[in-house]
Amino acid sequence: MDNQDSYQHMLAAVQQFHDKHDFKQTGGEELIYRIALMAEELGEMSACVTKGKPASELAEETADVLILLMGTAIAADFDLKQAFWDKMKKLDQRESRIIDGRIRVSEFRNI
Ligand SMILES: [Mg+2]
Repeated sequence: MDNQDSYQHMLAAVQQFHDKHDFKQTGGEELIYRIALMAEELGEMSACVTKGKPASELAEETADVLILLMGTAIAADFDLKQAFWDKMKKLDQRESRIIDGRIRVSEFRNI
């Protein structure tokens, strides 16, 4: 399968990366460690924005986050594609409000 738009193809590449480095047996799939790595990469995304770096650098750091997210789905054994569509369905039902000049889409419980 060579379709780069295919989620399955992307997931297979991440699985191959995990297998190459034996993440399952070497701590690479421990969820707490993965959360720390994702926080680190989010910080790198943040620095791209706050330091005015080019979009190409932001794209690379965002890809790091996406790869980690997909790998976390592998590590925790859930179907991220299904979770994505389930959540999009929920988000589509939510209302939006402008708060402090920015749009917020939320359930707005008890507000
Ligand atoms: Mg990075």
